Amino acid sequence: MEKKELLYEGKAKRVYCTDDSEKLIVSYKDDATAFNGLKKGSIAGKGIVNNRMSNLLMSRLEQAGIPTHFIEELNERETLVRRVSIVPLEVVVRNISAGSFSRLYGVEEGIRFAKPVIEFCYKNDALKDPLICSSAAEALGLASDEEIMSIKSYAQRVNIWLQQFWNKRGVTLVDFKLEFGRTADGLLILADEISPDTCRLWDSSTQEKLDKDRFRRDLGRVEEAYQEIMRRVLETF
Ligand code: UDP
Repeated sequence: MEKKELLYEGKAKRVYCTDDSEKLIVSYKDDATAFNGLKKGSIAGKGIVNNRMSNLLMSRLEQAGIPTHFIEELNERETLVRRVSIVPLEVVVRNISAGSFSRLYGVEEGIRFAKPVIEFCYKNDALKDPLICSSAAEALGLASDEEIMSIKSYAQRVNIWLQQFWNKRGVTLVDFKLEFGRTADGLLILADEISPDTCRLWDSSTQEKLDKDRFRRDLGRVEEAYQEIMRRVLETF
C-alpha cells in the first residue's frame, strides 16, 4: 500500500491517504508536546516504540473482541489503519489518582480507586479539551447516547485487559486515554494509539514512571523509559 497525500499532521503523527479511500497510513514521529502544545521537544526513538506498542496492543485487543482501526504494520514507524471520523471525545480511564485528577480535586497522586473512573474530555484545542459530562456530549451532538454507552463498555473492557497485560510485566496501569472513531458504515471502533504517550505506567516495585510524564515533568531518562517499557512488552511475547 502506497502513501499518497498528507491528510493531517498532528503533534505526534502524520496521516496519509492511500489508494483505498477506506484505509490510511499513520506515521509516528519523535516529536513530543505537553500542556496543550506549550512544551515542545523530541524523544529519540519514541515513534518506533509507540507504533510497535500500539499495534501489538490493538491486535491483541482485537483478538479479545474489541474492534480497532489496526490493519497492518508496514514498517517500524508506519501502520495501515481503517479510516474513521474521530469522535471528538478523549476517553480517560483511571485506576489510580494522578495528573489532572489530582490537580482538579486536590488529592495526592497514587490513591487506588475501588473502581475505575471514566472521564470524557471534549477534543477542542481552542477550549483546551475541557472535561465534559456524557449528557453535554450528547446535547452537543458529539456522540449519541448509544455510542456513549458502547464507548464506556469498551473502555471498561480495555482497562481490564490492559491491567492484566501490564501486571504480568511488573507494570501498574495508572490511567490512560482512548479515542474512538466511526467507519464509513457507522461502526464504532477503537482508534488513535495506546502507548507511553497516552498511558501512565509505573514500575510496580519501584513506582518509577515509565511514560510521557518523564518528559512533561523533566524527570530525565526519557528515552530510556520508552526503551524499558518496550523491553517489558517484548520479554513476555
Ligand atoms: N492523556 C493523553 N492526551 C491528552 C491528555 C491526557 O493521552 O491530551 C493521557 C495521559 O497520558 C494520561 C491520561 O490521559 O495517561 C490522563 O491524563 P490527565 O487528564 O491526568 O492529564 P495531564 O495530567 O497529562 O494533563
